[in-house]
Amino acid sequence: MTGLSTPAILLRRIDFGDFDLIVTLFTLIQGKTSAIAKSAKKSVRRFPGVLEPFSRLDVVLTQGRRKGMPVLQEATLEEPFFNIREDIVKTVYASYWAEIIYLWMAEGEPHETLYQLITHVLGELNRGETPVEVLSILFQMRFMSIAGFRPNFDHCHACKTGLDQIRHATVISDPAKGGIACPTCGGMAGDRVHLSKGTLKQLAWIDRGDLEHAARVRFTPTAIAEGLDFLEAFVPYHIGRTPKSLGVLRAIRKTIHGKRKRAHR
Ligand SMILES: [Zn+2]
Repeated sequence: MTGLSTPAILLRRIDFGDFDLIVTLFTLIQGKTSAIAKSAKKSVRRFPGVLEPFSRLDVVLTQGRRKGMPVLQEATLEEPFFNIREDIVKTVYASYWAEIIYLWMAEGEPHETLYQLITHVLGELNRGETPVEVLSILFQMRFMSIAGFRPNFDHCHACKTGLDQIRHATVISDPAKGGIACPTCGGMAGDRVHLSKGTLKQLAWIDRGDLEHAARVRFTPTAIAEGLDFLEAFVPYHIGRTPKSLGVLRAIRKTIHGKRKRAHR
């Protein structure tokens, strides 16, 4: 029996009948791949504690009978990212990133740079030295570049005035136009996100250079708040779906924010 052997990140798992699981993997070699893990629910010995969300694995997949769903034959745990799964805030951020990838990727198309990106941010999230919000900004900015809808921060999409020539300190995000508008062209912004020029510069910096050093960009609290607001509108708009985990993420962030406020009184 010949199979495909590849590193993979587990994006999601759902129950299938009484005994099996269907896992969706982001594999290095063939991108997003759903596979059936037989007896994964029934037998603890088959995949002992291995098929957990975000785990980095080495897997062996074989083609199912009559061109059915691939079958997960083996899964070896390379990195469990325990610190993520033990922390609710880290878990919801990782769930959001995994869902973005799940929703955006087509089955069977490899994306090596995206694989490196998600592996990197999960590793950093697990280590805990970089603020989780900065990692989320890093992931989303670079995801947009990889996916081909990097936002244009250079000039107003309507009048083409360069960012430095715009006389206001803030501009208005316009996901539909793939970038920003000056306050004159943006008009009544409605519920669109306002972004200060300083935030735009920090967002552009984190999207440049090598991944290892990217998260060293110093984000001000304002830039973090504006950056997350902007990206969590821009990314869902461009993938055409709102990740369910985004609602959970926002609810948890609100609760924590409320607790901090009360603690400071
Ligand atoms: Zn304009």
